[in-house]
Amino acid sequence: MLMNMRDLLAVAQKNKFAVPAFNISSSMLLTGVIEASEEASSPVIFAIHPDELAFVRPSFISAAVQEAIRTSVPVCIHLDHGSSLDQIMAAIRYGFTSVMMDASESPLEENIAACKEVVELAHAVDVSVEGELGTIGTTGPEAEAGTEEIIYVNPDDVETFVEATGVDTLAAAVGTAHGIYPKDKKPELKLDLLREISSRVDIPLVLHGGSANPDDEIAKAVTLGVCKINISSDTKDAFYQKCREVLSNPGLREPNSIYPACIEAMKKVAHHKIKLFNAAGKAALY
Ligand SMILES: [Zn+2]
Repeated sequence: MLMNMRDLLAVAQKNKFAVPAFNISSSMLLTGVIEASEEASSPVIFAIHPDELAFVRPSFISAAVQEAIRTSVPVCIHLDHGSSLDQIMAAIRYGFTSVMMDASESPLEENIAACKEVVELAHAVDVSVEGELGTIGTTGPEAEAGTEEIIYVNPDDVETFVEATGVDTLAAAVGTAHGIYPKDKKPELKLDLLREISSRVDIPLVLHGGSANPDDEIAKAVTLGVCKINISSDTKDAFYQKCREVLSNPGLREPNSIYPACIEAMKKVAHHKIKLFNAAGKAALY
């Protein structure tokens, strides 16, 4: 069941769960994500970053759309961290049902103008829009882009931003970073800040950089209005750790001999996240 993010998250917000947004940038990751979601009867978001899209090529989106139409679980296909109108319009043409316009490193007025423009265009074709305030951190070159220093969202900007832009969802920087945290870097998720933001706006909130945060903090965030949590590193890490193990057998060559065990390994992580986000069984609510 293919949906946009607004309709997908309206149910999550009402029923207090978060939909996992798994980054997929290979057909193996797509298979793992859709199988885990079906087994757990969970709604799901296929998140694809512009760098991932350049790698998989646009034809991959047609396959993702077909999977979304075929499956009984609700699916949204979302452009993660779009940063230009060209990227956004191309994504809509390829079949994405949701886009993120990330102008979070620009001054507030510019961020508002960029998101407002995207909202006007995307809403005309029923595609939903995510904006971002504050900046998500980064943990190194293998993580998605982010800033060295996390700028926490200013709660005073939130209402202005949401009202002026008309975005459907808001990624608010509350201390997470993209990637897996190195030993000397501890995530500092400010739950009080999250609580304050959620009291000021009605739209569903999004948590980026959801990999490798303590489970109890994530579970708490779900009770505070977070309805979408982005997971990229944790599932990919499980997949490739297993891949290294499997490939220690030098005789293997066939993708269908190599990858099934890797897909199973990533599915275990996906199942854990789905449960943690309270999303298991929630496909029945749509
Ligand atoms: Zn992100």
